[in-house]
Amino acid sequence: MKYGNVDFDTYFKNYPDKDGYFGKYGGAYIPDELKAAMNEITDAYFTICKSSKFINELHRIRKEFQGRPTPISYLEHLSKKIGQVQIYAKREDLNHTGAHKLNHCMGEALLAKYMGKKKVIAETGAGQHGVALATAAAYFGLECDIYMGAVDIKKQAPNVARMKILGANVIEVTNGLATLKEAVDAAFTAYMKDYKNCIYCIGSVVGPHPFPMMVRDFQSIVGIEAREQFIEMTSELPDAIIACVGGGSNAIGLFAGFLNEPVEIYGVEPLGKGTTLGEHAANLTYGSEGIMHGFNSIMLKDENGNPAPVYSIASGLDYPSSGPEHAFLHDLGRVKYDVVNDEETIDAFFTLSKLEGIIPAIESAHAVAYAIKLAKKMKKGSILINLSGRGDKDIDYIIERYGIR
Ligand SMILES: *Cc1c(COP(=O)(O)O)cnc(C)c1O
Repeated sequence: MKYGNVDFDTYFKNYPDKDGYFGKYGGAYIPDELKAAMNEITDAYFTICKSSKFINELHRIRKEFQGRPTPISYLEHLSKKIGQVQIYAKREDLNHTGAHKLNHCMGEALLAKYMGKKKVIAETGAGQHGVALATAAAYFGLECDIYMGAVDIKKQAPNVARMKILGANVIEVTNGLATLKEAVDAAFTAYMKDYKNCIYCIGSVVGPHPFPMMVRDFQSIVGIEAREQFIEMTSELPDAIIACVGGGSNAIGLFAGFLNEPVEIYGVEPLGKGTTLGEHAANLTYGSEGIMHGFNSIMLKDENGNPAPVYSIASGLDYPSSGPEHAFLHDLGRVKYDVVNDEETIDAFFTLSKLEGIIPAIESAHAVAYAIKLAKKMKKGSILINLSGRGDKDIDYIIERYGIR
């Protein structure tokens, strides 16, 4: 299938190119010291990911430790309530640790093991990536250093406790605003000093090459499983698929199974409180081209061209850019990116919980909210949502702010 000058029959062979570009997006805009480290990871990945030993081990881990394949559930009550459209969910909330993030963390940590590394390093904001990586590190017997801003450590006490129970070192970063940005800087500085012994594990399809490609490849299991399962359940492909987009890893994972199929694809961004800069994190919808955190993509910028402050009710979507592949698919028109706001998301959170017995992560509730809107417009056909994670982590916050609906 062709879209513009892009042939999706051969898409995964050609994108990204050898320098990590999806069209003009991607690349590796990093200091020379870090280039050597990234080249080492790229070379190792290209060799190791093709070996049957690595592939078989990852397959076994997914099955025996993560509980894959995760099922697809037909959302009968939700579908009936809306009308004629059949709505389904790919249940990444049932992946071990309750979200899709473990899919790439297990891949990254297995790569670290094959490369002979002793330690994995990362930053974390809300703590979700930190917990997933700490889980993977425990499984493989690797040391794990998680850099986290002092402000976030205070806010995210349960996740900090989880990381520590799993044996990770949570390193408090106190300079500047003491949040995610400072944690990224501290983690990269530590990594550059010690890259022979460790590997940096990025938490989404963002950052310099090879991470957008590698994380996509590890997450593509979601789309590969989903395509097969959906056909088995219904004898057809879904008419539309939907995922929420923060950095974009759960979305690209699902999309990877359907890019070359006649399926409408939607990425849902958080509109937060509204369209004013600072009140949302809908970078693909409202942003423009720019370089940050080592890659070229579409981003939200302030008046000086720096990453703008962003907001989302979902901490996992609270990021001023998205992966370069999303920027590419956006410009190409293969994926449509659209928004839902906080209110619509909270409604969907309660609706799915009550009608289906599934409490979604607030991130995933964005995809559910969009599915509800789209189903009303479509009148007939089927929709598959990527339910990227479960909502246990969000219930205290929701009850405190919104009560029971
Ligand atoms: C982190 C997270 C997201 C957002 O990250 P992506 O890389 O955009 O997938 C979405 N859903 C859940 C449950 C998360 O934990």
